[in-house]
Amino acid sequence: MHKGRTLVTGGAGFIGSHLCEQLLARGNEVLCVDNFYTGTRKNVQHLLANPRFELMRHDVCFPLYVEVDQIYNLACPASPVHYQFDPVQTTKTSVHGAINMLGLAKRVKAKILQASTSEVYGDPTVHPQPESYWGNINPIGPRSCYDEGKRCAETLFFDYRRQHNLNIKVARIFNTYGPRMHPNDGRVVSNFVMQALGNDDITIYGDGNQTRSFCYVDDLVDGLIRLMETPDDITGPINLGNPGEFTIRQLAETIIELTGSSSRLVSRPLPQDDPRQRQPDLGRANSILGWQPTTRLRDGLALVIDYFRSLQAEELPSKPLMKIVSNCA
Ligand code: NAD
Ligand code: UDP
Ligand code: UDP
Repeated sequence: MHKGRTLVTGGAGFIGSHLCEQLLARGNEVLCVDNFYTGTRKNVQHLLANPRFELMRHDVCFPLYVEVDQIYNLACPASPVHYQFDPVQTTKTSVHGAINMLGLAKRVKAKILQASTSEVYGDPTVHPQPESYWGNINPIGPRSCYDEGKRCAETLFFDYRRQHNLNIKVARIFNTYGPRMHPNDGRVVSNFVMQALGNDDITIYGDGNQTRSFCYVDDLVDGLIRLMETPDDITGPINLGNPGEFTIRQLAETIIELTGSSSRLVSRPLPQDDPRQRQPDLGRANSILGWQPTTRLRDGLALVIDYFRSLQAEELPSKPLMKIVSNCA
């Protein structure tokens, strides 16, 4: 088991905070770097007392000089509402952030893992999506800042491998949900649970027959750590997600049932370039990592519902995003 010093960028975000927690539980020293764009200090509040945990406010678009053995690069807004709020900044974070973290990995000879995404497949014409599929992406649409930024980051990872022999790992993460998702991030799970808890209308975009496959965060984090611990010749990309595929309408109905809500389903326009279907082919994850998710959607949703209920009892974090005014180099 790796006990070295680990950098987690985006560590104060939803997935990052769970990853920091798991790494600490395994005995690692963790340096969490975040500019709090979409993440919050509160997500890692419970880790601050741990002497092996350090929190640093920093924007990965700028160089970072620290000494670490491994790097998980998660810094990037992830929900469509968040990443489209300041799309230029989103691309800068993916591309400049990747260059800086790869430069850091090169200098200190650290292993580096990129949190890539199923969005690199775009609106897929191959179903389920294997890693060998090159994708179907609009390069100039409203989702492109995220999709193309993440694709360029993958390119950079593989070029740093070919050119500088870096030890890289690329995970393609499919829709992940769990406690510490931001209640106002506009993602489907957080929107539907918040709407159901308030007995408000549940907003189905389009006909609700588009599908997604939802992975519980604990399963995902286990997959990320397994990938990081593979031998040097394993680079990925490797899909990580849950193969259980549901229509958005089914998701809404399940959430209404689990919350006992009186919400009604209402239709709203489908956002441009919204992928019709998405399901991971987990062949590589099974054979290379010996990994598969174990949390059923209903069980994971019950935990998220409890989390959002507890938030409602407190004050809701409704902070609007602020434009990042600094310029990336
Ligand atoms: P999140 O928004 O909760 O976390 C992202 C974190 O990155 C936040 O804490 C944010 O403040 C930080 N950040 C953003 N820009 C930064 C910058 N320039 N410098 C430093 N920190 C910055 O989102 P998440 O769902 O936890 O996603 C984490 C990673 O996983 C992202 O890279 C995302 O693209 C990837 N991912 C997530 C999903 C998912 O379903 N949640 C799916 C595929 C990929
Ligand atoms: N970098 C960094 N931390 C380091 C080493 C490099 O942030 O410890 C940044 C550096 O500022 C550079 C980027 O990573 O912009 C890429 O570094 P690399 O050495 O690959 O390229 P070069 O410095 O030759 O442009
Ligand atoms: N969606 C929806 N209602 C909402 C939020 C999202 O019907 O209130 C749909 C959205 O159009 C998409 C799916 O749910 O088809 C997943 O959306 P999300 O933003 O969570 O993630 P992504 O599109 O990036 O997979």
